[in-house]
Amino acid sequence: MLSQNKHWAKDRVEKDPVFFSRLEHLQSPKFLWIGCSDSRVSANEITGTQPGEVFVHRNIANLVINTDVNMLSVLDYAVNVLRVEHVIVCGHYGCGGIKAALTHSDYGQVLNMWLRHIKDVYRIHTTEMEEIGEEQAKLNRLVELTVREQVINLAKTSIVQKAWKHNASLQLHGWVYGLADGVVKPVFELESGTHINPIYEYTDL
Ligand SMILES: [Zn+2]
Repeated sequence: MLSQNKHWAKDRVEKDPVFFSRLEHLQSPKFLWIGCSDSRVSANEITGTQPGEVFVHRNIANLVINTDVNMLSVLDYAVNVLRVEHVIVCGHYGCGGIKAALTHSDYGQVLNMWLRHIKDVYRIHTTEMEEIGEEQAKLNRLVELTVREQVINLAKTSIVQKAWKHNASLQLHGWVYGLADGVVKPVFELESGTHINPIYEYTDL
């Protein structure tokens, strides 16, 4: 990896002599990417973007959990300091986290805690999930529904609601990447200012 890095750095400078000096003092990405830790789903790689263009947070199964200080810090910084205009939650078909959550196995307390959030998505959509007979179709749909719920979880945060209230241009997107064909499928979107279930809305921001 270190020798590959030397080649990469040399190649970059040959193609664009000011590449590093330009990026060294400036980071102004328009996108925050919340993706899966899976090694096959790299934000820059699959969207053809360059260093400096996407602010990235990754965890198992791309979850937005309201007690996750790591994710919330990234979101806060991206929205309030970098002023990104798009937050993308990108899941992927064939996700091991989603697959594990559909089983009844004990993965140990820490992973059980994490995967529980995916089981909760299943519970919210029990009727639809139980109508799907085929196992693979069930998994694929749970990947899509999990992404959808994470986008809604973003809208539940005071960080996003405050940005919307102050008319910041901030759109939330839910995407699913196909490992088999490399294509991203948009599955859900929330425009700036969208109202969600009122119990989650803060009126005194
Ligand atoms: Zn995954």
